[in-house]
Amino acid sequence: MKEVRAKKFLGQHFLTDEVIARRIVDSLCLQSKVLEIGAGMGVLTKYLIDQTDDFKIVEIDGESVEYLNANFPMLKDKIIEGDFLKISLNDLFNGQHFSLIGNFPYNISNLILFKVFENKFLIDEVVGMFQKEVAERVVAASGSKTYGILSVLLSAFYDTEYIFTVSNQVFNPPPKVQSAVIRLKRNNVTDLGVKEEDFVRVVKTAFNQRRKMLRQSLKPLQKSLANVEEKFLTLRPEQLSTQDFIILTKEIYND
Ligand code: SAH
Repeated sequence: MKEVRAKKFLGQHFLTDEVIARRIVDSLCLQSKVLEIGAGMGVLTKYLIDQTDDFKIVEIDGESVEYLNANFPMLKDKIIEGDFLKISLNDLFNGQHFSLIGNFPYNISNLILFKVFENKFLIDEVVGMFQKEVAERVVAASGSKTYGILSVLLSAFYDTEYIFTVSNQVFNPPPKVQSAVIRLKRNNVTDLGVKEEDFVRVVKTAFNQRRKMLRQSLKPLQKSLANVEEKFLTLRPEQLSTQDFIILTKEIYND
Protein backbone atom coordinates (compact mmCIF):
# COMPACT_ATOMS: atom_id res chain seq x y z
CA MET A 1 0.00 0.00 0.00
CA LYS A 2 1.36 3.37 -0.92
CA GLU A 3 2.11 5.83 1.82
CA VAL A 4 -0.13 8.73 2.67
CA ARG A 5 0.80 11.93 0.89
CA ALA A 6 1.38 14.55 3.61
CA LYS A 7 -1.14 17.38 3.52
CA LYS A 8 0.10 20.62 4.97
CA PHE A 9 -3.33 22.07 5.64
CA LEU A 10 -4.05 19.13 7.95
CA GLY A 11 -0.81 19.65 9.87
CA GLN A 12 0.51 16.31 8.67
CA HIS A 13 4.09 15.63 9.72
CA PHE A 14 4.62 11.91 10.03
CA LEU A 15 6.93 10.71 12.77
CA THR A 16 9.61 8.42 11.38
CA ASP A 17 11.48 7.49 14.57
CA GLU A 18 10.19 4.26 16.14
CA VAL A 19 12.07 4.78 19.40
CA ILE A 20 10.36 8.12 19.91
CA ALA A 21 6.99 6.68 18.91
CA ARG A 22 7.31 3.96 21.53
CA ARG A 23 8.51 6.44 24.13
CA ILE A 24 5.43 8.61 23.58
CA VAL A 25 3.07 5.67 24.05
CA ASP A 26 5.06 4.49 27.08
CA SER A 27 4.59 7.91 28.63
CA LEU A 28 0.91 7.20 29.18
CA CYS A 29 0.32 6.40 32.84
CA LEU A 30 -3.31 5.34 32.41
CA GLN A 31 -3.77 2.89 29.62
CA SER A 32 -7.29 1.66 30.06
CA LYS A 33 -9.25 3.82 27.65
CA VAL A 34 -7.36 5.90 25.12
CA LEU A 35 -8.36 8.20 22.28
CA GLU A 36 -5.72 8.92 19.67
CA ILE A 37 -6.07 12.12 17.67
CA GLY A 38 -4.76 11.94 14.11
CA ALA A 39 -3.22 8.50 13.71
CA GLY A 40 -1.86 9.22 10.24
CA MET A 41 -0.03 6.07 9.18
CA GLY A 42 -0.28 4.56 12.63
CA VAL A 43 3.23 5.05 13.97
CA LEU A 44 1.90 5.54 17.51
CA THR A 45 -1.11 3.32 17.01
CA LYS A 46 0.90 0.16 16.50
CA TYR A 47 2.39 0.52 20.00
CA LEU A 48 -0.96 1.50 21.46
CA ILE A 49 -2.43 -1.74 20.15
CA ASP A 50 0.03 -3.62 22.38
CA GLN A 51 -1.07 -1.70 25.47
CA THR A 52 -4.84 -1.73 25.33
CA ASP A 53 -7.84 -3.02 23.44
CA ASP A 54 -9.97 -0.19 24.58
CA PHE A 55 -8.91 2.64 22.33
CA LYS A 56 -10.33 4.73 19.54
CA ILE A 57 -8.92 6.92 16.84
CA VAL A 58 -10.30 10.09 15.40
CA GLU A 59 -8.68 10.92 12.07
CA ILE A 60 -9.93 13.61 9.72
CA ASP A 61 -8.04 12.50 6.60
CA GLY A 62 -9.80 9.93 4.44
CA GLU A 63 -6.56 8.79 2.86
CA SER A 64 -5.06 8.07 6.30
CA VAL A 65 -8.19 6.21 7.37
CA GLU A 66 -7.94 4.07 4.25
CA TYR A 67 -4.27 3.37 4.98
CA LEU A 68 -5.00 2.42 8.59
CA ASN A 69 -7.82 0.09 7.64
CA ALA A 70 -5.69 -1.62 5.02
CA ASN A 71 -2.64 -2.07 7.26
CA PHE A 72 -4.20 -2.64 10.66
CA PRO A 73 -7.29 -4.83 10.20
CA MET A 74 -7.73 -4.97 13.98
CA LEU A 75 -8.63 -1.27 13.93
CA LYS A 76 -11.96 -1.98 12.33
CA ASP A 77 -14.71 -0.28 14.41
CA LYS A 78 -12.13 1.75 16.33
CA ILE A 79 -11.63 4.52 13.78
CA ILE A 80 -13.85 7.54 13.66
CA GLU A 81 -13.35 9.47 10.44
CA GLY A 82 -13.93 13.01 11.62
CA ASP A 83 -12.73 16.18 13.22
CA PHE A 84 -11.65 15.95 16.86
CA LEU A 85 -12.82 19.53 17.36
CA LYS A 86 -16.34 18.66 16.26
CA ILE A 87 -17.04 15.25 17.79
CA SER A 88 -18.78 14.87 21.11
CA LEU A 89 -16.56 13.18 23.67
CA ASN A 90 -19.35 12.20 26.05
CA ASP A 91 -20.40 9.04 24.28
CA LEU A 92 -17.00 7.84 23.10
CA PHE A 93 -16.45 5.37 25.92
CA ASN A 94 -20.02 5.30 27.21
CA GLY A 95 -19.41 8.36 29.31
CA GLN A 96 -16.34 6.87 30.96
CA HIS A 97 -13.08 8.72 31.48
CA PHE A 98 -10.20 8.31 29.06
CA SER A 99 -6.69 9.44 28.14
CA LEU A 100 -5.81 11.38 25.02
CA ILE A 101 -2.71 10.71 22.97
CA GLY A 102 -1.32 11.99 19.72
CA ASN A 103 1.29 13.59 17.67
CA PHE A 104 -1.12 16.46 17.40
CA PRO A 105 -1.80 18.50 14.27
CA TYR A 106 0.06 21.70 15.10
CA ASN A 107 -2.29 24.00 13.27
CA ILE A 108 -5.02 23.30 15.85
CA SER A 109 -2.92 22.80 19.02
CA ASN A 110 -4.57 25.60 20.96
CA LEU A 111 -8.06 24.49 20.02
CA ILE A 112 -7.25 20.94 21.11
CA LEU A 113 -6.01 22.22 24.46
CA PHE A 114 -9.09 24.37 25.00
CA LYS A 115 -11.24 21.35 24.22
CA VAL A 116 -9.28 19.39 26.84
CA PHE A 117 -10.02 22.14 29.34
CA GLU A 118 -13.73 22.00 28.49
CA ASN A 119 -13.73 18.21 28.89
CA LYS A 120 -11.62 17.98 32.03
CA PHE A 121 -14.24 15.83 33.73
CA LEU A 122 -13.81 13.21 31.02
CA ILE A 123 -10.14 13.47 30.11
CA ASP A 124 -7.90 12.13 32.89
CA GLU A 125 -4.63 12.39 31.05
CA VAL A 126 -3.08 13.84 27.89
CA VAL A 127 0.21 12.67 26.43
CA GLY A 128 1.27 14.19 23.20
CA MET A 129 3.50 16.08 20.93
CA PHE A 130 3.09 19.76 20.24
CA GLN A 131 5.37 22.32 18.70
CA LYS A 132 7.95 23.07 21.39
CA GLU A 133 6.73 26.60 21.92
CA VAL A 134 3.17 25.45 22.68
CA ALA A 135 4.46 22.69 24.97
CA GLU A 136 6.48 25.27 26.89
CA ARG A 137 3.47 27.52 27.21
CA VAL A 138 1.35 24.74 28.69
CA VAL A 139 3.87 23.79 31.37
CA ALA A 140 5.10 27.33 32.13
CA ALA A 141 5.07 28.52 35.71
CA SER A 142 4.16 32.04 36.74
CA GLY A 143 6.97 34.50 36.22
CA SER A 144 8.14 32.93 32.99
CA LYS A 145 7.82 34.67 29.65
CA THR A 146 5.81 31.86 28.11
CA TYR A 147 3.27 31.77 30.94
CA GLY A 148 -0.18 32.59 29.60
CA ILE A 149 -3.88 31.79 29.40
CA LEU A 150 -3.45 28.09 28.65
CA SER A 151 -0.88 27.62 31.42
CA VAL A 152 -3.24 29.09 34.00
CA LEU A 153 -6.44 27.41 32.84
CA LEU A 154 -4.95 23.95 32.37
CA SER A 155 -2.93 23.94 35.57
CA ALA A 156 -6.12 24.64 37.53
CA PHE A 157 -7.17 21.08 36.72
CA TYR A 158 -4.03 19.29 35.52
CA ASP A 159 -0.49 18.67 36.72
CA THR A 160 1.60 19.42 33.66
CA GLU A 161 4.98 18.02 32.80
CA TYR A 162 7.47 18.56 29.99
CA ILE A 163 8.80 15.12 29.08
CA PHE A 164 11.24 15.52 26.19
CA THR A 165 12.20 17.59 23.16
CA VAL A 166 12.00 16.15 19.65
CA SER A 167 14.09 17.34 16.72
CA ASN A 168 12.27 18.40 13.57
CA GLN A 169 14.47 15.96 11.59
CA VAL A 170 12.48 12.88 12.68
CA PHE A 171 9.40 13.88 10.71
CA ASN A 172 8.39 13.55 7.13
CA PRO A 173 8.11 16.28 6.00
CA PRO A 174 10.09 18.05 8.74
CA PRO A 175 8.19 20.92 10.34
CA LYS A 176 9.98 24.27 10.66
CA VAL A 177 10.13 24.14 14.43
CA GLN A 178 11.16 21.70 17.13
CA SER A 179 8.57 19.64 18.95
CA ALA A 180 8.11 18.45 22.50
CA VAL A 181 6.15 15.79 24.31
CA ILE A 182 4.22 16.80 27.40
CA ARG A 183 1.92 15.06 29.86
CA LEU A 184 -1.11 16.49 31.62
CA LYS A 185 -2.50 14.51 34.53
CA ARG A 186 -5.76 15.39 36.14
CA ASN A 187 -5.37 16.71 39.69
CA ASN A 188 -8.11 16.19 42.26
CA VAL A 189 -9.77 19.60 41.89
CA THR A 190 -13.45 19.36 41.08
CA ASP A 191 -14.56 22.81 42.13
CA LEU A 192 -12.56 26.04 42.00
CA GLY A 193 -14.76 27.75 44.55
CA VAL A 194 -15.69 30.34 41.95
CA LYS A 195 -17.76 30.13 38.81
CA GLU A 196 -15.56 28.70 36.11
CA GLU A 197 -16.81 31.18 33.53
CA ASP A 198 -15.79 34.06 35.82
CA PHE A 199 -12.33 32.54 36.32
CA VAL A 200 -11.85 32.10 32.58
CA ARG A 201 -13.03 35.64 31.91
CA VAL A 202 -10.64 37.13 34.48
CA VAL A 203 -7.66 35.16 33.14
CA LYS A 204 -8.38 36.00 29.51
CA THR A 205 -9.04 39.67 30.22
CA ALA A 206 -5.86 40.04 32.27
CA PHE A 207 -3.66 38.42 29.61
CA ASN A 208 -5.29 40.42 26.86
CA GLN A 209 -3.03 43.27 27.91
CA ARG A 210 -0.22 41.32 29.46
CA ARG A 211 2.17 44.25 29.86
CA LYS A 212 -0.26 46.29 31.92
CA MET A 213 -0.94 46.17 35.63
CA LEU A 214 -4.14 44.41 36.58
CA ARG A 215 -5.68 47.67 37.79
CA GLN A 216 -5.68 48.73 34.15
CA SER A 217 -6.09 45.45 32.27
CA LEU A 218 -9.14 44.30 34.25
CA LYS A 219 -11.17 47.41 33.33
CA PRO A 220 -12.99 45.71 30.46
CA LEU A 221 -14.66 43.43 33.04
CA GLN A 222 -16.65 46.49 34.12
CA LYS A 223 -16.67 45.20 37.70
CA SER A 224 -15.68 46.99 40.85
CA LEU A 225 -12.17 46.17 42.00
CA ALA A 226 -12.84 47.56 45.47
CA ASN A 227 -12.50 44.16 47.14
CA VAL A 228 -9.33 43.22 45.30
CA GLU A 229 -6.17 43.21 47.36
CA GLU A 230 -3.90 46.12 46.51
CA LYS A 231 -0.97 43.77 45.92
CA PHE A 232 -2.74 42.20 42.93
CA LEU A 233 -3.64 45.50 41.30
CA THR A 234 -0.06 46.54 40.69
CA LEU A 235 1.01 43.18 39.26
CA ARG A 236 1.06 42.03 35.67
CA PRO A 237 -0.78 38.80 34.83
CA GLU A 238 2.33 36.65 34.44
CA GLN A 239 3.16 37.35 38.09
CA LEU A 240 0.02 35.58 39.37
CA SER A 241 -0.15 31.86 40.02
CA THR A 242 -3.25 29.87 39.16
CA GLN A 243 -4.19 30.00 42.82
CA ASP A 244 -3.81 33.80 42.80
CA PHE A 245 -6.15 34.01 39.81
CA ILE A 246 -8.75 31.98 41.69
CA ILE A 247 -8.47 34.29 44.71
CA LEU A 248 -8.62 37.32 42.42
CA THR A 249 -11.79 35.96 40.78
CA LYS A 250 -13.34 35.46 44.23
CA GLU A 251 -12.51 39.02 45.20
CA ILE A 252 -14.08 40.39 42.04
CA TYR A 253 -17.18 38.20 41.77
CA ASN A 254 -18.05 36.78 45.22
CA ASP A 255 -18.66 40.04 47.00
N1 SAH B 1 0.26 10.29 14.43
C1 SAH B 1 0.86 10.39 13.14
C2 SAH B 1 0.37 11.61 12.35
C3 SAH B 1 0.67 12.94 12.96
S1 SAH B 1 0.31 14.29 11.89
C4 SAH B 1 2.36 10.40 13.27
O1 SAH B 1 2.84 10.61 14.38
O2 SAH B 1 3.06 10.23 12.28
C5 SAH B 1 -1.27 14.84 12.50
C6 SAH B 1 -2.44 13.94 12.13
O3 SAH B 1 -3.64 14.56 12.60
C7 SAH B 1 -2.62 13.74 10.64
O4 SAH B 1 -2.84 12.37 10.39
C8 SAH B 1 -3.89 14.56 10.31
O5 SAH B 1 -4.62 14.03 9.23
C9 SAH B 1 -4.65 14.48 11.59
N2 SAH B 1 -5.59 15.59 11.82
C10 SAH B 1 -5.45 16.89 11.45
N3 SAH B 1 -6.49 17.63 11.89
C11 SAH B 1 -7.32 16.78 12.55
C12 SAH B 1 -8.58 16.94 13.23
N4 SAH B 1 -9.17 18.13 13.32
N5 SAH B 1 -9.15 15.85 13.80
C13 SAH B 1 -8.54 14.63 13.72
N6 SAH B 1 -7.36 14.43 13.09
C14 SAH B 1 -6.75 15.48 12.52
